[in-house]
Amino acid sequence: MRHYADCIGFELTRRCNLHCKWCSKGDAQNMDMTKEIIDKTLDELSDYWIDVVRLTGGEPSLVPELVKYVIDGIIKRRIIVGTVQFITNGTITSDIIKKSSMKFLDYSNTIQDEREELAVFFDNEKRNTLYESLKGKYPSWITQISTWEHDNEKTFDIVKKFYDIQNEKYNLITQEELGTREDIGSIVIEGNAEKIYDQYSENQLNLIRILHNKFCIIEDGDGDKPYLKKTLSVSANGKVYVGSCMSFNHIESNYLFNIMDCNNDFWKKVDRWCWENPISSYANKLMERYKGIKWKYEHHIDRKLNNKDTLEAFEKLKNMIEVYRENLILFHPKLPYLSHTELNLFVVAYLCQELYKTAYEDNEENRNVLSMFIDYTTGLHKDELNHWNKQTSENMMNMMINRNNERAIEKIDNPIKKFFAHLYANM
Ligand code: SF4
Repeated sequence: MRHYADCIGFELTRRCNLHCKWCSKGDAQNMDMTKEIIDKTLDELSDYWIDVVRLTGGEPSLVPELVKYVIDGIIKRRIIVGTVQFITNGTITSDIIKKSSMKFLDYSNTIQDEREELAVFFDNEKRNTLYESLKGKYPSWITQISTWEHDNEKTFDIVKKFYDIQNEKYNLITQEELGTREDIGSIVIEGNAEKIYDQYSENQLNLIRILHNKFCIIEDGDGDKPYLKKTLSVSANGKVYVGSCMSFNHIESNYLFNIMDCNNDFWKKVDRWCWENPISSYANKLMERYKGIKWKYEHHIDRKLNNKDTLEAFEKLKNMIEVYRENLILFHPKLPYLSHTELNLFVVAYLCQELYKTAYEDNEENRNVLSMFIDYTTGLHKDELNHWNKQTSENMMNMMINRNNERAIEKIDNPIKKFFAHLYANM
């Protein structure tokens, strides 16, 4: 079966020629990705359709041969890739990288139909609204020069000129063109950034995000098209982790598995990890907000949001998320035929039922917490949320149980047993 992935990152090196004070990666390390790791990753992903391949570091321009190796590897295996995003600090030029980008642009022309299919699958028009300069475009290669926090002003113009490849499928963007930090919506406070938080402006402090990347990243999609909906990166030492901003230190305790331990079972390994960390991406956002608020409170950063009441309300929510997580793990073996999304809906409905029994929502404060809990675990639209009640929860639970049972019956091989199972199910 064909698999889809939203974004796969390659942390090609942990070396860097700069030492930016805001760096979320922390201090550079003397480590490059090996060609073995690249081959293994591409072999595991050879049947994937990947919307974005992100090349990062450290500074990936320090390892042009590895950039070339990844691009040649993709082309050799004819992996369908929508866009390659090359993220650089804009201090180094490389002919090898420039040639690789042009080679990829040629390859991209040969997979035009597949790219269009990918664009529809990932609804690219919608997602590119974040990138001001990319609106309405679906470039095959993006050279992204990061400028916010880097000491790169001296070479910036030279690099920009050097990589200005004239091709309709090519885009050169700077972070300024992506928008301000405030537009992007969050600041990852990891690595070096955490040490210098007192240099953030008031607005920036309100956007702090502390990574909580332990959550289910599989979206079921239509029919038989499940996909990886969040960036998965392979670090220079082969450890696979969620996102691409995580500090080198943090990766060591938060990785899913090592790519070198895969045996044509990349999807299976990710899926297993998701069932071990089954909270939804919405709930994960709440955990990140909670961690951010708590961090600000503990650092005596007195912002409106950070007063004690807010923290207490978020603590309640956080506890509910913990219970919700435990129940997802508990119910998965009981309802094994439900997808990640379906089980999520079942458990939210189940917990609501339990709370309704205790008249939890009779108090206004609890009602707000409950509504935030449903909002942050299901991602339902505001109108739908307003209609969520006891009856909705009950219907949702029944619907999911029936769905699970129907699928269980479909799996029965013996026609007589199957007939009776249908009969009993409809009695
Ligand atoms: S932010 Fe980028 S350029 Fe700066 S030290 Fe970190 S990896 Fe290097």
